[in-house]
Amino acid sequence: MIITKKKKKEEILKRLGGGKTVYLFGCGSCAEQCKTGGAEEVREMEEMLKENGYGVAGSSLLNETCYNQLVRKEFRKNPSLRKAGSIVVLACGAGVKTVSDNAGETQPVLPALDTIFLASVERQGRFFEGCSLCGECVLDSTAGICPHTECPKGLLNGPCGGMAQGMCEVDTEKECAWVRIFKRLEKQGRLHCMEQYCPPKDFSVSVRPRKLCLR
Ligand code: SF4
Ligand code: SF4
Repeated sequence: MIITKKKKKEEILKRLGGGKTVYLFGCGSCAEQCKTGGAEEVREMEEMLKENGYGVAGSSLLNETCYNQLVRKEFRKNPSLRKAGSIVVLACGAGVKTVSDNAGETQPVLPALDTIFLASVERQGRFFEGCSLCGECVLDSTAGICPHTECPKGLLNGPCGGMAQGMCEVDTEKECAWVRIFKRLEKQGRLHCMEQYCPPKDFSVSVRPRKLCLR
């Protein structure tokens, strides 16, 4: 799941400038689960904008705002969207990009959220980063714990010299990721993985923007 957090209302108002009509997009997928872009948050945004003198031309809450076909359909069926002075999107950056690609060239599209990480969901409302999308997964040799993500230094060969009594020197409240990797590999009888040197990542495999086209 893509995790987002709300931008401050002052920041949104500053970017909007004054005196225009705004159209809102929410997202019924990740942003709804993060409580940043669901029906309630779209309603809150509408109220906030009205209190600050903006006209709200309408709003759309799509199942997935990063899905181009859904966004395109919304633009086709909803003429007030094209007429709005600007569009505010309560979704991750991919959602903002998708709406921007469908909006008119002169129609500003603004993010209401900051997109912060890709998460595993422990349960509703509890999200933890476990993958940095490096494009070259090493979890087979690290017992499913990503050193690139869970070690604050991103060390592929650890632990570092700062580890103290099993705890991380950067976040002293947390167990060192490499100690966790060691313990799990030990339980699996695969400690030999710790003896293998992991070469630096080949960042050429993750040159941006990345794409995947199955058809
Ligand atoms: S190594 Fe870590 S960051 Fe890279 S793909 Fe695997 S989990 Fe994601
Ligand atoms: S103590 Fe462990 S988790 Fe923390 S920075 Fe060093 S290797 Fe990474």
